[in-house]
Amino acid sequence: MSEKNPIVGLCQKASLLISAAQVDQCPPDEGLEVAFAGRSNAGKSSALNTLTHANLARTSKTPGRTQLLNFFALDDSRRLVDLPGYGYAKVPIPLKQHWQRHLEAYLSSRASLAGVFLMMDIRHPLTDFDRLMLDWAQASQLPIHVLMTKADKLAFGAAKNALLKVRREVQQGWGDVATLQLFSAPKRQGVDEAQMVLAQWLGLLDEEQEAFEEA
Ligand code: GDP
Repeated sequence: MSEKNPIVGLCQKASLLISAAQVDQCPPDEGLEVAFAGRSNAGKSSALNTLTHANLARTSKTPGRTQLLNFFALDDSRRLVDLPGYGYAKVPIPLKQHWQRHLEAYLSSRASLAGVFLMMDIRHPLTDFDRLMLDWAQASQLPIHVLMTKADKLAFGAAKNALLKVRREVQQGWGDVATLQLFSAPKRQGVDEAQMVLAQWLGLLDEEQEAFEEA
């Protein structure tokens, strides 16, 4: 997508709506939202910033904002949601359990949630966190789009092979719930493809354009 990219225009106006520590603090369940998830250090902040051309993720990393869900308003009816990158040893176990409970409740009950972007480091895919996210998504029939991040760390052929291998495993374990692609923030690899998914989930592609994409 180019300058006409509807995502970038919208995201530049994004503002933090609320940091929720539990599900009952979420904004009203109306309109459409897309959530971003990933084990800590998977490259979630870099991907979020690259896709939106905004520095949303910095807000989420600010001490005191490392809550369960950070909601960013794009307009009156669309939101992005940054989920915590839990799964890292630094988080105390009771907090992990709290997150797990509320994250599962959020993913299974949120009607406005159109899909989840899941960031996986291409060199360490399908962590326990990733498998849990895929389980929850499958249980709720929620689409997941996997960005295999840091693709620039591998040679082109090796990155392609890694993608095929993970795609096969995901299809075997979780059926058709997930789509996958390669992504690199510094090389801006896979940005158009990912933005297209985001735009589609947020209802930003008109029918004509969707028909064109499918043709
Ligand atoms: P988060 O904890 O999942 O939000 O991860 P960050 O986005 O903060 O990234 C963790 C580290 O990986 C940082 O040092 C980033 O610079 C680096 N990183 C993130 N994405 C990429 C990428 O696509 N390629 C490379 N080479 N490094 C990346």
